[in-house]
Amino acid sequence: MQKLILALLLAAACIAHASATPRDIPFHGAIQLKVDATDSVHKIFRVRETIPVQKPGTMVLLYPQWETGSHSPTQEAAPLAGLIIKAGARRLEWRRDTANPFAFTVDVPAGVRELEIEFQVLPSLSGPKQISSGMLMLPWQKVALYPAGWFIRNIPVRAQLTYPEGFQFATSLETAEASANRVTFKAASFEDLVDAPVYAGRHVKRIELTSAPAIPVRLNLFGDTDDALQLPAELVDKFRAMVATVPRLFKSQHYRHFDFLMSLSDVMLSGGGLEHQESTEINVSAGYARDPGEQMFMANLVAHEFIHSWNGRTRQPADLWTPDLNTPMRGSLLWLYEGQTEFWAHVMTPQLGLRTTQQALDALAVDASLMSNRPGRRWKSLQDSTVDAVYMPGKAAYWRDWQRREDYYAEGVMLWLDVDMLLRELTADKKSMRDFAAAFFGPGQNTRTISTYTFADICKTLNKIAPYDWAGYFNPRLNAHDDVHLLDGLKRGGYQLVYTDQPTEFFVQHEADLGGIDLSTSLGLVVAKKGAIKSVTWEGPAFRAGISIGARLVSIGRQAYTDDLLKQAIKAAAVDRQPIELTFEADGVTRSVKIDYFGSLRYPRLEPIPGAVDRMRQLLTRPI
Ligand SMILES: [Zn+2]
Repeated sequence: MQKLILALLLAAACIAHASATPRDIPFHGAIQLKVDATDSVHKIFRVRETIPVQKPGTMVLLYPQWETGSHSPTQEAAPLAGLIIKAGARRLEWRRDTANPFAFTVDVPAGVRELEIEFQVLPSLSGPKQISSGMLMLPWQKVALYPAGWFIRNIPVRAQLTYPEGFQFATSLETAEASANRVTFKAASFEDLVDAPVYAGRHVKRIELTSAPAIPVRLNLFGDTDDALQLPAELVDKFRAMVATVPRLFKSQHYRHFDFLMSLSDVMLSGGGLEHQESTEINVSAGYARDPGEQMFMANLVAHEFIHSWNGRTRQPADLWTPDLNTPMRGSLLWLYEGQTEFWAHVMTPQLGLRTTQQALDALAVDASLMSNRPGRRWKSLQDSTVDAVYMPGKAAYWRDWQRREDYYAEGVMLWLDVDMLLRELTADKKSMRDFAAAFFGPGQNTRTISTYTFADICKTLNKIAPYDWAGYFNPRLNAHDDVHLLDGLKRGGYQLVYTDQPTEFFVQHEADLGGIDLSTSLGLVVAKKGAIKSVTWEGPAFRAGISIGARLVSIGRQAYTDDLLKQAIKAAAVDRQPIELTFEADGVTRSVKIDYFGSLRYPRLEPIPGAVDRMRQLLTRPI
């Protein structure tokens, strides 16, 4: 009896876990995808899709779960609703996989040539918006199903988008036909489609960034107002310089055309970016055009996302690339994908005048300081942090210095900085990371074909530039539980990380960005607006005194809390060596604590090591 039950359960499981391994085989016909994005009031996307049937029988349709820009299963199944599948007039019942809500099985009767599908996507009404009365950001993976069993690069899609009247759109997809508020795009593979989001809006400005019309590069600006779009001409010239310089660095140019999709908005998502091969998404605030400080602070973001077109989209880690969007991605080489991209952003921004050399050094000081104050390294290696992409995105990591969320960015910068300096040391200053960039991202990369690489390929390329035990170099650093080698690159470059009681210009901008004060390397607190504690340094002075995240500072001694007063109190305590008395509210209770911290304010900056060769300046200033 038990055996029979088990057999029945297994049979049920086989049906429930319907899937089809993706294969590199041709797909006959093309998916027709029609998205109606006109309902900006309810923020609903209405989708009609026709999928050609390849053969009758069981067919599995997948809603994408993994997204390439986040390298993560960041897409949610819940927003998909109203799914109806028909063959002509006949409705076909679908069954959702009981363990995988992204997979729908349909039994397709003989003679049926195509499935007609309709559904809606209901994006979250809290958090970042995708559609408002003034702007639309459409990631295609949120509005399309695809058949399981094929490499998505083999599935052609003809997509059509209807957007709110009065909007204009931009995307790297090529237009077949456009009317008032509807555009039909030329057929693209499903892989290319999901790598080519559409931005549309009421306030739009387009600026050409290259004088080479054979490969147009366009800056498409979408703002809350027309005023938000008025970027200073000098800034646009720096973007033009970037567009000319980055292909020189990588010795290749793979795109047919390139579209920067930039939102300048306080209504939509702000402060982030997302990479694609022929376009990039950059989201800044509505005040960006008028704020030189924000332009300087966000400079790395702009460069980072453009550089990703090479490092990330055209060349991809072998274990990160997947044949479809429902196969798990693995991030073991994100310390190159993200870390080296950010390293190049740090190097490019002073080259392009987007930052001064001093601002670039100060920005590196922030990364160096952040990574130097990572108690979490004791339990979690840099290599382990690359797995964060699988389970951390979209989730809060409150104790960032202990949880080490996505440290492959900033620690990756420190690592590649050291590789650059080591290459210079090993070759009597004849070679550097520029030679790696040219060798790794150059030969054979002038097409859009994605090529993948492994850890061995990285070591092999470096070895050709400077023979060295590169695996023996990387492995201990990737798996370290100490910071013995963390700042080697700074040292080899002629600099040391120091702390003073004066913030750098970059640090001031960092605080403006977070809207509060960052005392993480002194009192062990980051305070956001109105005294709200945003983060607490793990086992730092404030932590030990009993202050936690979410508390709100009320007073310092007998005076009502202000950011300036707290900074003054920290300075005074360093002189008179009296504890700092803080009163705060947490969980509805008001408490006072005394903190024995006498180390004054501490802000990171880089200082030249006396007598050392200043290789860092060579890295940041020698024109590419
Ligand atoms: Zn990135």
